[in-house]
Order: sequence, then structure tokens, then C-alpha cells
Amino acid sequence: MTRAADDPADAGRLAEADKAFVWHPFTAMGQWLADDPLIVAAADRFELIDTGGRRYIDGFGSLWCNLHGHRVGQIDEAIRRQLDSAAHTTLLGFGSPPSIELATRLVEITPAGLKKVFYSDSGATAVEVALKMAFQYYRNVGQDRRRFLALRQGYHGDTVGSVSLGGIELFHGVFGPLLFDTTFVDCPNPYRHPAGEAAGETVLGQIDEFLGRSPGEYCAVVMEPLIQAAGGMLTHPQGFLASVRELTRRHDVLLIADEVATGFCRTGRLFACEHEGVEPDLMCLGKGLTGGYLPVAATMTTQEIFDAFRGEPHEGRTFYHGHTYTGNALGCAAAVASIDLIFSSGLPASLPAKVDYVRRRLGELADHPHVGDIRQCGLMVGIELGADRGTKRPFDPRRGVGAAVCGRARGHGLIIRPLGDVIVLMPAPAMDAATLERMMSAVVETVNEHFRADTAV
Ligand SMILES: *Cc1c(COP(=O)(O)O)cnc(C)c1O
Repeated sequence: MTRAADDPADAGRLAEADKAFVWHPFTAMGQWLADDPLIVAAADRFELIDTGGRRYIDGFGSLWCNLHGHRVGQIDEAIRRQLDSAAHTTLLGFGSPPSIELATRLVEITPAGLKKVFYSDSGATAVEVALKMAFQYYRNVGQDRRRFLALRQGYHGDTVGSVSLGGIELFHGVFGPLLFDTTFVDCPNPYRHPAGEAAGETVLGQIDEFLGRSPGEYCAVVMEPLIQAAGGMLTHPQGFLASVRELTRRHDVLLIADEVATGFCRTGRLFACEHEGVEPDLMCLGKGLTGGYLPVAATMTTQEIFDAFRGEPHEGRTFYHGHTYTGNALGCAAAVASIDLIFSSGLPASLPAKVDYVRRRLGELADHPHVGDIRQCGLMVGIELGADRGTKRPFDPRRGVGAAVCGRARGHGLIIRPLGDVIVLMPAPAMDAATLERMMSAVVETVNEHFRADTAV
């Protein structure tokens, strides 16, 4: 156990130093400074342990990246073994065994057609690479294409290029003046879209129209397959992804599948694209790629796109993009171990029962007057809270109901994070049945208890 987890004096010092020096991401710092910060000092399989020694179920996969739990023997050991060779050597002009092993596996397990792996360090950079690759691909084949089409409520990371493809006003609005101009179509979630059950058809019509109106101008359609996670766990109608693939083929435009959140078993299959038999031209991987251990991301693409970049230095076809820690050896070793563990532990076959179990337990909240919608895609869940389930009237956002419910969950030994008033559940796909049961009971009890206590709606 770490020192902090059993030393109350150290816990106090850490909390003070955090407030003095650390600026937290996606965090309203005024509120943070006023609150009692929870500092996670250690983790043990599917639980997080704070500096006071309290244990909580990790109900959000440590921000959607943890797959097998924490302190997993096989992954820990793979990193230790790699440390005995090298922690990091560069991929700029040199190879390294772990990056080669990982690329070999990724080509094997991702949709057919994806043959090349370009490494980076985060989901945002994986998307940044994909959009620059798509843009330069057309340059290299003699076409000047500049436009991208993306979905409203989409999220692709926080670098300026990936923010340009993002459609979440709260996160992205302030940076508007810095961004390139992207074409947005609606998010086809039936609960949120005015067309309801016809949302999918409506949005496909929009895509068809935009692409048809400007032939030869679009580089790519960029989307999160099946579910727009950060936008509020907004699920798509069945068949939407496959139809977008068909439209992009018909209009001769590339499809970039951002599987940063959905990849590696979260949707109930290894990759979301598998559900609809879709082969994208570019696929972005991050979050779960290393099992949630280290920052490694990958942009995968086809032989055809790769071939357009082949050439001698003077031919100007080279992709001038790379990050210092691209393809980091420890990270790649962790990713190889995580992927091997997915198969050796039989994780994919274990998923349908867990997905069904979660669906059954969520049913206990289906008739709750303040639960407007429950959206589930595999083990990715959004529980949308609202003032009136009949009229879909939301709560006043200033009340922070989602945050209050998640705060209350800690009292039930569960850590989850909301997206506005959507309660997000993202258990590690390998979570054992007993922990999953405790987690779902805590969710149901927390929501029920919250609205019993807070009747001022
Ligand atoms: C989280 C996320 C990203 C960004 O990944 P980072 O590692 O945070 O940069 C990109 N796309 C999707 C779909 C994501 O959920």
C-alpha cells in the first residue's frame, strides 16, 4: 500500500499542495478550491483507494480507459520486463520491438483493410493525425480538398484540429475564432433529435446533401461510431454507421472512425465498427489501448492511403508529423500485454452476459419520474436526468443535479462522473460479476435516494 493511503497527516498535506499547485483539467477550479478534494492514492483491481484509505468502485474506468482493472499482474510484469530493455527510444527513423509487436496485433484485430499503424500519445492526437493524413492524402493524389463533415455533439479531443471537428458548445464554443470551418450535421440520437425515431434518416439525408452539393471538396466524414460518448452518451439508431459508410463510398469521401472511447470491448465487441461490419478508411484508437495504463494512441489506415505517402525525400509526399514520445516502449509493451489478456482471459465472450445484466438493473430506474432516458451501448451507459420525464424538460443546469447525484454516489462507495445531467457509467469490461452487482445497486440506490431527499423540482 502507498504511504499516502494510510497516513492521515500526509493526506492533509497532499490536499493542501494540490490546491496550491495543481490546475485540474475540465474542472471548475473555483469550486474545486472550495471543496474537499478526493485524492486517489492507490487502486486495487476495480476499486480506487483515497488518501484516507477509503475504497470506491471505479465506475468510470478511470475516465473510460481502464479495461482489466488496476494493478493487473500480466500488464505490470510486461512493463517491468520492458524497463529492463529500455523505457523509451524514438520511432523517428528507428524501430523498436514493442511498437512492432503492437502494430502487428492491431492490424490483426481491427477491421480488415486497416493495414498501417501510426502512433501518437492521446486520443486527440490520434484524431489530429487522422485529419492531417486525410488532408495530405488528397494533396498527394493531386486533389485540393479542405472540408470535413462531423456530427453535432461530437467529441474528438482538445487539440485545435480535433476541437474544430467537435460539436459540444460548452467545451468548444470559446475557441470558435481559432478553429477551421467544419460542416456539422445533427446528432441522430432519437431522444434528443426533434425527428425522434426518424432522426437517423434525417441526418443521413443531411450528409447526402452536403457531400452531393460539393463534390471533390470533402476530405472525410469524422464520427464516433454507435455512440457519441462525451456529448452525453448519445446512441445512434441501428444501421446508421453502415449507412454513413455507404454514403461516403458513394460520394468518394474518406470515413474516419473515432474509436477512442468505443474501442477495446466497451460496446460489447472488440470495436464498435464490428457491430455493423464497417471498414473505415482511418480509425483512431486511444483510451483503452493500453488497458488504461499509459498514454499510447494509434491512427490506423489502409494500404491505399499509405501508398500515397510513399516516395523519396525530395518528392514531398512525406507525412511530417510526430511527437517525441510517439510509440513509447513502456506504453506499447503495456498495450501488447493488455491485448493478449483480452484474448487469454476470454473477455469478448464474457461481455454479452454483463451487458444484459446492466440492462436488467437499469430497468429498475426506467419508470423513475426524473429519469428521462436510459441509453446503453454495451458497457457504456448514460442515464439522463430531467425535471419532467413526460415533456423531457431538463433541470436548470445551474442546479448541478448530475454532479450532486455523482457526489452522493461516493457515500455508496462508487466513483462516477456526470456529463451535465447525464449520469455516465463506464465499468471496466473485465469487472467481475460481484463488483458489477455492487456497482449497479449503488447506482439505483443513489438515484432513488437523491430524489427522495431533493423534492424541490
Ligand atoms: C476521450 C476522447 C478523445 C480524446 O482522447 P484524449 O486521450 O483525452 O486526448 C477523442 N475522441 C473520443 C471519442 C473520446 O472519447
